Amino acid sequence: MHLLVTGGAGYIGSHTCVAAHAAGHTVTVLDNLCNSSAESLARVERISGRRPRLIVGDIADRAVVRSVLDSEKFDAVIHFAGLKAVGESVAKPWEYYQNNVAGTLVLLDELRRHEVFDFVFSSSATVYGNPDPANLPLRETAPLAAVSPYGATKLWLEEVMRSMAAADPRWHFLLLRYFNPVGAHESGLIGEDPSGIPNNLMPYITQVAVGRLKELTIFGNDYPTPDGTCQRDYIHVCDLAEGHVAALAKVRELPGCTAVNLGTGNAVSVAQLVASFEKAVGRPLPHRYGPRRPGDAAACWADPSKARELFGWTAKRNADDMCRDAWNWQSRNPNGYRGA
Ligand code: NAD
Ligand code: UDP
Repeated sequence: MHLLVTGGAGYIGSHTCVAAHAAGHTVTVLDNLCNSSAESLARVERISGRRPRLIVGDIADRAVVRSVLDSEKFDAVIHFAGLKAVGESVAKPWEYYQNNVAGTLVLLDELRRHEVFDFVFSSSATVYGNPDPANLPLRETAPLAAVSPYGATKLWLEEVMRSMAAADPRWHFLLLRYFNPVGAHESGLIGEDPSGIPNNLMPYITQVAVGRLKELTIFGNDYPTPDGTCQRDYIHVCDLAEGHVAALAKVRELPGCTAVNLGTGNAVSVAQLVASFEKAVGRPLPHRYGPRRPGDAAACWADPSKARELFGWTAKRNADDMCRDAWNWQSRNPNGYRGA
């Protein structure tokens, strides 16, 4: 297939380019590089021997999107482009609605004009809001709720796609709800490279380990979980990338709009992830316990059986693999892609 991958220079996008190449697909990336670097695609070439064509542009820029779609025929789109920081979305809601919602509406409009109807969307477990423990592990039928402007952009876009599919049977939408992507390609050539101080747990841990940050604060150890720290469903980014390739193989067979969890089905606590990481690095990680972070759910993990049934996909890598590969990436690239 010839794939248009928006946001393909980013963390999950670059790993998906590698997986798509391995499956024999051709990739064109549309990315405005607002949270990434073209270096990631040079690294993709070092891994897979092929470099995706990169068009530097914004999904909200109709002229750019139109010229990309005029210039080549695409079989399907994987839509990663978007802003993703929950806290920033609370401070800058307009920017999130403009970038994620308005940008995606432009993209979808140009796709229907160009009759490209197979669409894989990066949704998120955030659409389950702060889940009721009675609904764990989360199935795709669990109640949906937005707990931040970021979450609202994912929820609204899912709704847009559901209604568009109901109105026009030519569309095939897969809404892939990712749980907590972590880790890096085993080569250590590509990985997560957040700008500024990371908000997410794994990049915070790796930056403490490499000496860029002093210590990790674990937010809360009084949750109603086995060890008192929050539980999440961490998924290796290469498993996630392979999940996209498995989904693409089925996108045209599945009518309308289908939401599918991409997770492992395992609940791992913050303390357990820190212990796995210490094992990978072979030394203790400086950390202390602090107060809860406002808005955090005590526990959130997936029932991944629908992905297995529909795509024949399951995650293969465990928390030790995630920590080993995250550390391999960070220790080889202490400043990420900067200075490369
Ligand atoms: P990322 O920031 O590394 O990648 C997103 C890419 O999109 C970046 O390369 C950025 O430059 C690009 N981009 C942003 N706005 C754009 C625009 N208007 N036009 C063109 N390019 C634009 O993030 P990621 O972790 O790879 O996430 C990819 C997608 O997956 C996002 O939609 C995110 O919301 C979703 N997601 C991520 C996580 C996670 O924890 N990483 C979890 C669930 C869902
Ligand atoms: N977390 C933490 N310290 C940090 C960052 C995160 O203890 O510096 C915890 C956070 O409270 C949550 C878990 O790690 O319980 C995962 O947080 P992350 O932001 O990575 O993912 P999300 O909460 O969005 O699932």
